[in-house]
Amino acid sequence: MSAFPPHGISFQHTLKQPFTLQGPALHSGQHASMAVEPAAPGSGVIFRVKTSAGWQDIPAHWRHISSTRFAMALEYRGARISTIEHFLAACAGMGLDNALVTVNGPELPILDGSSSVFARAIREAGLAEQDQERRLVIIRRPISAQIQDARIRVSPADKTLWHGRVQFNHPWVGRSYAWYDPSAGRFLSELAPARTFGFTSDLDAMRAAGLIRGGSLDNALVIGDHGPINEDGARFFNECARHKILDAMGDLFLLGGALVGEIELEANGHTLHAAFMRKLWETPGAADWYPTHSWVAHPSDEMLPSDGFSARSAA
Ligand SMILES: [Zn+2]
Repeated sequence: MSAFPPHGISFQHTLKQPFTLQGPALHSGQHASMAVEPAAPGSGVIFRVKTSAGWQDIPAHWRHISSTRFAMALEYRGARISTIEHFLAACAGMGLDNALVTVNGPELPILDGSSSVFARAIREAGLAEQDQERRLVIIRRPISAQIQDARIRVSPADKTLWHGRVQFNHPWVGRSYAWYDPSAGRFLSELAPARTFGFTSDLDAMRAAGLIRGGSLDNALVIGDHGPINEDGARFFNECARHKILDAMGDLFLLGGALVGEIELEANGHTLHAAFMRKLWETPGAADWYPTHSWVAHPSDEMLPSDGFSARSAA
């Protein structure tokens, strides 16, 4: 039996058995279903999407990011999958490295707007250890990215630690901070339940733009002039800051390996995460891509780029 979360586990894991989840998609409002199955070591998470030309696999890798507007979306060979971040955060948080995810449409179900349902499904299905070492991205030199007020900084550390900060000109949110230590084993209780959030003042504009057609008080923390308008209120006093950590954890899963370092986030979002991943990959010496052979010997050259690899491994 594997321990949760994966800190310290050095081998890759897949599911012991498949599971399915379904529900409305946040932006399209359409019914979305996903079937998650075990996958071979080294394959990572693969989204299998139906296109007019047949089924197409999309590797969960930052090279295939096609849009970061309101959600993380991937596109590969004419197939598209969106709103993947909360599922990938559950994969990262629970230590699921390899899985095949067959979907019935271009968006994953939003469920309750957090990673809780995904994480519990992974726990119930169980994890099986595989015979390949887990890929790690071990930070060796501080590296940061910034877009306007949004900032991410990652520094070398013996163990991974996340810090999230958000600031809104709003009396209930104000300046909010959260931290998360994966080695404490509290992903399911401390981070996974933190929901997507939005302000009532912004929702009308988003609906008018054709977004969040599936959005409701069932799948988001909705903040009115004086605080949450959800019947049960917030799940944590700093739920917004926790959710920002969750979003970053999900997006950075697209690196293709587990990040080892201290991560400081401020007003972060999907566009920033995408910029950071590219910068990290393109900065020789910023990280050790471990184990070296697994980054070149990957089954798909397109999935884990080999260009620039020799420069990096020589650094
Ligand atoms: Zn989110």
